[in-house]
Amino acid sequence: MKSTLYATPNQLGSSIAEADFQNFQAIFKGEIIIQGHEEYESVRLLWNKMIDKRPAIIARCSGVADVINAINFARDNNLQVSVRGGGHNVAGNAAEDNALMIDLSKMKAVNVNPQLKTCTVQGGATWRDVDHETQAFGLVCPGGVVSDTGVGGLTLGGGLSWIRRKVGMSIDNLIGAEIVLANGKFVHASATENKDLFWALRGGGGNFGVVTSFEFKLLELGPEVFFMACMYPKKEADKVLKYWVDFTRKAPNEVTSDCIFWAVPAHPNFPEELHHTPVVVLAGMYAGNPEKGAELMQPLREITTPILDMSNVYPYNGVQQMFDPFLQKQAFNSYWKCIYLDDLTDHLQLRVVKKGKEMPSPHTLISIRNLQGAISKVSPGATAFGDRSARFLLSIDNMWKDSSEDKKNIQWTRDFFNEMAGFSKGKVYFNFNFDMEGPSDMMKDSFGANYEKLGKIKGKYDPDNFFRLNANVKPLK
Ligand SMILES: Cc1cc2nc3c(=O)[nH]c(=O)nc-3n(C[C@H](O)[C@H](O)[C@H](O)COP(=O)(O)OP(=O)(O)OC[C@H]3O[C@@H](n4cnc5c(N)ncnc54)[C@H](O)[C@@H]3O)c2cc1C
Repeated sequence: MKSTLYATPNQLGSSIAEADFQNFQAIFKGEIIIQGHEEYESVRLLWNKMIDKRPAIIARCSGVADVINAINFARDNNLQVSVRGGGHNVAGNAAEDNALMIDLSKMKAVNVNPQLKTCTVQGGATWRDVDHETQAFGLVCPGGVVSDTGVGGLTLGGGLSWIRRKVGMSIDNLIGAEIVLANGKFVHASATENKDLFWALRGGGGNFGVVTSFEFKLLELGPEVFFMACMYPKKEADKVLKYWVDFTRKAPNEVTSDCIFWAVPAHPNFPEELHHTPVVVLAGMYAGNPEKGAELMQPLREITTPILDMSNVYPYNGVQQMFDPFLQKQAFNSYWKCIYLDDLTDHLQLRVVKKGKEMPSPHTLISIRNLQGAISKVSPGATAFGDRSARFLLSIDNMWKDSSEDKKNIQWTRDFFNEMAGFSKGKVYFNFNFDMEGPSDMMKDSFGANYEKLGKIKGKYDPDNFFRLNANVKPLK
């Protein structure tokens, strides 16, 4: 059913011929949402409350044909295009003032092939959609740790899951993709078809077109897994961090774990007397037999006396949704930055602990993710993602409620990031990065030797930089 229009896009600042707009509406099967539509205000808002953009048109696509039509219409009318998968990107690239938003949120189908242990996933699905279908067959696809994060943005940027050390990043499990290019052409990319595009999609972000379907290989896991979630008082942070860093040196690839500086959320899942208590959390999954996982991770639960230990055997999908209540859409103004670290020496640990004790908001997280394992088995040139040698990713996920504190919080994050960047090769994970502010050229440092090749592939598939609302790779001839 067609929506009723309340205003024309021109009233939002775009100059589109009325007849062209009507033709577009006539061929579009999904929903065209513009200002005045009852859903306009909710659809334009993304996960990060700090982003407040007003697109001229939100084209909520029902399938590939709508994506093609939306791209053609935007290109022919000189409209900037943004692409919305799950809307979780902290940078807010999925929406732009006066642009046309290609909204994939109704394209969520997931089809599992249990014999081949693969699945196809439409471009607007969330990880909850994927987990729901795959677990029915005792299978999993490595995705995000918050279930309403989009498959689209997360996969194209890399994809760090709770089983990343066992199976690598999401891109390492991607075996094909269907994509609509800037010229409106629909192509398939895989190891045998449009190989250069397939290489670029694995880490190069949303630079190359709109992915309407992803194909992944799957791993047998579940229905139950051991998950560690042990909270220690922050005053013990130096001891806990040191023990964990040493543990990660010998941990098998089945163990994927994080060390997180946080405060206990004021949520009924936690005892009220602990709400807002500063903590350092060790969290992690064992991708295998739950009893073996419990035994292996037991020492991490006995470093000192925890204030709360929620470690247990859980349903896999329960773990995948465990963090959802604390990281809801529009809950916080958010400014995140992150940096890969080759190691966390004693000296660096002290610096991190100091910052962890000075966190400016009770909602802020400093997450240190242990990497390597299957991630670093893939050579840097095999995918656009580039260097995979770092042992840790330090992510400063600063979140707060009051807009009057924006400046202070942004500055705190930048100062911390700049300090840590001095101990790194400058590579960032674009999926956890708000902007390009920093001491060096993040694009070059992050893609390294792959940067020029990526630019050439961009030049081939999107020479006019039509898809530029992203961690943008400039097209090269
Ligand atoms: C609460 C929270 C938890 C997170 N947890 C994890 C985690 O566990 N692991 C991890 O690796 N990352 C995680 N992230 C980061 C996440 O990977 C990025 O925010 C990612 O961009 C989200 O994808 P999205 O589709 O939801 O975002 P969107 O904001 O919808 O999209 C971001 C960008 O991706 C591109 N894009 C999205 N879909 C498509 C598509 N189908 N085709 C082409 N381009 C597309 C577009 O350029 C778009 O601007 C988390 C983020 C949040 C806010």
